[in-house]
Amino acid sequence: MKCRDMERYITLFINDKLSGMRMKQFIEHIEECSVCFDEMETNYLLKEALLRLEKEGSYDLHGDLMEKLKNTKRCVEVHEMVTMIRRVILICAGMALLFELVFVYAFYL
Ligand SMILES: [Zn+2]
Repeated sequence: MKCRDMERYITLFINDKLSGMRMKQFIEHIEECSVCFDEMETNYLLKEALLRLEKEGSYDLHGDLMEKLKNTKRCVEVHEMVTMIRRVILICAGMALLFELVFVYAFYL
């Protein structure tokens, strides 16, 4: 295994997708070549750092999502309440108009 092949194998190794003879050759090379070892270490640390960021980020995202859902639910409730109040007002106005018409019709016509 040559140094120029290692970039690909480092990625495979870090993602647990290296096995068999390639794994053996990879380990042999990594143990002898400090350049590739440093490359592997850098890649591994970067991946772990990103994973931790992702995990913490996903926790925050979950909280954000729950907050968003809560706010959306509240908005829906307020909207439904406003719609109901509007309907009640319309019904009252309609009844008042009908009552007035009946009153006018009964007493003035
Ligand atoms: Zn190397």
